[in-house]
Amino acid sequence: MAANPKTPFELYAIDSLLSEDERAIRDTVARFVDDHIRPEVGDWFETGQLPARELALELGKLGVLGMHLDGYGCAGTSAVAYGLACLELEAGDSGIRSLVSVQGSLAMFAIHAFGSEEQKSQWLPRMATGDAIGCFGLTEPDFGSNPAGMRTTARRDGDDWVLDGTKMWITNGSIADVAVVWARAPKELGGIRGFVVPTDTPGFSAHDVKKKLSLRASVTSELVLTGVRLPADAVLPQVQGLKGPLSCLSEARFGIVFGSLGAARDSLQTAIDYSVSREQFDRPIAGFQLTQRKLAEMAVSLGNGMLLAMHLGRLKDAGVIEPEQVSVGKFNNVKSSLEIARECRSILGGNGITLEYPIIRHMNNLESVFTYEGTHEIHTLVLGEALTGVPAYR
Ligand SMILES: Cc1cc2nc3c(=O)[nH]c(=O)nc-3n(C[C@H](O)[C@H](O)[C@H](O)COP(=O)(O)OP(=O)(O)OC[C@H]3O[C@@H](n4cnc5c(N)ncnc54)[C@H](O)[C@@H]3O)c2cc1C
Repeated sequence: MAANPKTPFELYAIDSLLSEDERAIRDTVARFVDDHIRPEVGDWFETGQLPARELALELGKLGVLGMHLDGYGCAGTSAVAYGLACLELEAGDSGIRSLVSVQGSLAMFAIHAFGSEEQKSQWLPRMATGDAIGCFGLTEPDFGSNPAGMRTTARRDGDDWVLDGTKMWITNGSIADVAVVWARAPKELGGIRGFVVPTDTPGFSAHDVKKKLSLRASVTSELVLTGVRLPADAVLPQVQGLKGPLSCLSEARFGIVFGSLGAARDSLQTAIDYSVSREQFDRPIAGFQLTQRKLAEMAVSLGNGMLLAMHLGRLKDAGVIEPEQVSVGKFNNVKSSLEIARECRSILGGNGITLEYPIIRHMNNLESVFTYEGTHEIHTLVLGEALTGVPAYR
């Protein structure tokens, strides 16, 4: 055995691509995950119970909630630094990264980008510290990939807005203090509009989705809005139409481009360590060429995904990234990460199916990541349209 085996990222000299600040942020988040997430997350996943409130406060102290936004108590880091934080959080569990993504890139980003000054000052500082939790309600029971068909309505009654409808699969839904809800207003009032809804408003209720076998360390809920009456200034004033929610999704997807690789890296390192210590036929299974082929292919897939993530991160920091480029990242990195987790599971044999090791948890979690923030198939169509100019959604 080589005296000093390299990690997959060392093989690619990934550190040489990062600034000192970026490495420091990455290492701080990695330590947090080692201390606060890894020891507990297997139990959270098994019981389906996440101490989300306590965790949100700790994540707030860590400074990762809305870390890439400017002002209002947010750190204003680079996109790459945010991506690296997502990667380390998802090396712990995709559910923890989901909590942070939904808080920072969906709920806080929507208010930050499209909110009034009052909405921003009321919610963003408390969301940055984790004192207030946010969720983002776009998907409906009958409209997932095609949110343009949404049935949730927003009508005017005097100065007030009144919201009616149902949202489905909403991360952080039942623990949220504030929900950013997208609803269909009459055409003359802008069509699809976003609303900042305090979750204690009469008529708002949230019910958790049960029996999940994926993202069990994450709260997923249905939101029911029945005559939810809001003041005139509850609407997000700076955006109308589907481009509002879609631009938030592009932000969150960027975090997934990096984040999914965290689950893959953790799976691969676990499989490498296991293969070196597990003996069959009187030798470590790492010594079999079939195992080495699996490890080599996975390390290259992971490293290539990281180079892609870094390239997209630098484009984003330069302010020139296009939404279809984020789709390239989600398309490639989530698919690769899911394949890596499945292959790593095989290396652990029977041990691979238990929560004693993180791999099957990552594998099951990545099934959700494959589906949310635009399914893999929808991103395929985004890339098909980018390449041909021909939309193929209908
Ligand atoms: C754990 C979890 C958390 C989530 N969190 C949130 C959240 O916080 N907020 C939120 O708003 N949403 C959230 N979602 C919803 C998620 O974004 C949707 O599940 C996703 O958009 C897919 O919608 P759907 O489940 O209705 O599937 P559908 O849209 O019904 O798709 C079913 C299948 O059909 C395929 N398909 C659909 N249209 C086409 C087409 N034109 N061509 C080819 N194939 C097609 C899809 O790719 C998929 O394979 C979450 C989902 C999950 C699982």
